[in-house]
Amino acid sequence: MFRKNCGQCHKPSFSSCESGEWLCPTCGYDLTDEKAMKDENKQKHRRQMVLYVSLTKSMR
Ligand SMILES: [Zn+2]
Repeated sequence: MFRKNCGQCHKPSFSSCESGEWLCPTCGYDLTDEKAMKDENKQKHRRQMVLYVSLTKSMR
């Protein structure tokens, strides 16, 4: 899993492949020349998921 941060909307986007055309799924900005970061921190993802769930609950 690779991650690039969009220079325009600053949202992270993810791809299983480092090479090839890479457009930001949020704003369509061309991230092909941005440096891809390896993203294998599953624990961090889990923590973000927990945060998302608790935020969703507090909105109800
Ligand atoms: Zn973007």
